[in-house]
Amino acid sequence: MDCYSCRQDGQAAAPPRERIAADEHWRAAHCFDTSLPGWLVLVPRRHVTTVADLTDAEAAGLGLWQVRLSRALTAVTGCVKTYVVQFAEKEGFAHVHFHIVPRMPDQPDDRRGPGVFGYLGVPEGERVSERRRDELAAALRAHL
Ligand SMILES: [Zn+2]
Repeated sequence: MDCYSCRQDGQAAAPPRERIAADEHWRAAHCFDTSLPGWLVLVPRRHVTTVADLTDAEAAGLGLWQVRLSRALTAVTGCVKTYVVQFAEKEGFAHVHFHIVPRMPDQPDDRRGPGVFGYLGVPEGERVSERRRDELAAALRAHL
């Protein structure tokens, strides 16, 4: 099984962008192929491909993490709200992952709601740099 999320979770010394915060059930990371600074993913620590397979203990932490990460994003990015979305449909990315996405005050109309996915899967040159993702990770940690 080739699973991006499980590979990242198994890294002994994960960079800050890959482990902004974690507990025994969840790990928060900065999305790697986005052009929108602050686009986070919240991932269960074990391989689960449907929300229905989360345990009660995992479910109990889920809401807390979604809200805490949203608060931290609001403080760090100045977003007016966050979007929380879960599909896990792309090949190699079936591992459940919740997108926690800052909606910025100046975000164009065509990038609001589902249009925000226009910031995902962008070419390498348009992605938020590793350095910037690590800086954001450090700033977010200070608000968690
Ligand atoms: Zn996995």
